[in-house]
Amino acid sequence: MSRLTNDDDVLVVGGGLAAWRFVEELRRRGFTGAITVTSDETEPPYDRPPLSKQILAGKWPLDQARLATPERLAAANVALHLGDAAVAFDAATRTVTYASGVTRTAARIVLATGTRARHLPFGEGLVHYLRNANDVASIATALEGRESGHAVIIGGGFIGAEAATALTGRGWRVTVLEAAPWPLVGVLGAQVAQWLSGLPAAAQVTLETNQRITNVVRRGDGLVIERESGPLEADLVIAGVGALPNVEWLDGSGLEIDNGVVVDEWAQATADIAALGDIARFTWTSVTGTSPVRIEHWQVASDHAARLAAHWLGESPTAPLIPYFWSDQYGKKIQVLGHPLASDDVQIVSGDVDNGAWLALYQRNGVVSGVVTLSQPRALMKSRPLLEVPTTLVEALDQSPWSA
Ligand code: FAD
Repeated sequence: MSRLTNDDDVLVVGGGLAAWRFVEELRRRGFTGAITVTSDETEPPYDRPPLSKQILAGKWPLDQARLATPERLAAANVALHLGDAAVAFDAATRTVTYASGVTRTAARIVLATGTRARHLPFGEGLVHYLRNANDVASIATALEGRESGHAVIIGGGFIGAEAATALTGRGWRVTVLEAAPWPLVGVLGAQVAQWLSGLPAAAQVTLETNQRITNVVRRGDGLVIERESGPLEADLVIAGVGALPNVEWLDGSGLEIDNGVVVDEWAQATADIAALGDIARFTWTSVTGTSPVRIEHWQVASDHAARLAAHWLGESPTAPLIPYFWSDQYGKKIQVLGHPLASDDVQIVSGDVDNGAWLALYQRNGVVSGVVTLSQPRALMKSRPLLEVPTTLVEALDQSPWSA
């Protein structure tokens, strides 16, 4: 790998968290070469987690979530090219073609086009999604002039639960419709999903599970959700049913695409092309082995940016990448450290379900594979060493770092 020098220019495609963190990491490490960030959005980079939390709750304006403030942009000396989607890429010549017809090339290319909300096969134009600033603005327009109403959230996962929480806080009556027997079962497994399943009711949100929804239609001033168990009326419908990587524009680019852009442990697809954040299917070495993963977490996008910047500038590796995720829902904080699988064994080792505060360890192949907490943020962070070296459950209980 040849080192990135100050005579090289860098082109970042996608203007979200990973893109902005990469800019910050390069500048912090002394890179003075030219950097251009391009995005299909017209907004300079902003943070997405507040969209479904403080911003949807009406507590923050978008500006409060801004990553690339005018001051930071000026300090970082970055050129922005906004409102123009990249539509094609040629890896051999490192050439990006934009919807406007503009083409750009650079010594190093960083792909960071993130994910988009998966859409339901019905209800287009009636169902809202929650992925970017425009989505939240369109929900805000739907809420305008209404003190309350009935909001139906399709999907009880992280985004759906946060949207339900934000709308309840605005005085709306909220029903969450979940396809599975419990929300989050596919991510956290049946046991943890059951422990969490009482949260909506405690927050005055109605949760209906095992839902089969067939359509969303307009009726009069309102909307009707058509489903096998009977119709449900709503004033607002938001769906949070997963996300898809924005990689179609890379078809025919010469890069390997397989549920994301295939990259190595430094986020490199080739020596001078990298992919960061939600679109990166990276080689990840953890206490449970080495495997290709694509992880849609804020912390992983930040870590990718730091690792790539360090690697390209010839610096020693940053700390091991241990995925971290949080979600603020129903007045509680769920936090996940590591990358546990729904099929892992799980056991609460501190706190209990009835008190609404606990720490659970996931285990796979005899070692701790993840730590999940409900409203125990300090205990979670103290448990990180359990994922830095292979640790059995017995060793973990012996060390009990969460209670230190
Ligand atoms: P993004 O932030 O999505 O940025 C990608 C950018 O590329 C976007 O601006 C996009 O418009 C642009 N783009 C897409 N296609 C093109 C194209 N063809 N040409 C040019 N530009 C393009 N994670 C957590 O860990 N905790 C949370 O609580 C949490 N809450 C979240 C809440 C919401 C509502 C959302 C949407 C995400 C949340 N996340 C959370 C996930 C976290 O925000 C993402 O993992 C992170 O934003 C990924 O960064 P990224 O840069 O890879 O992608």
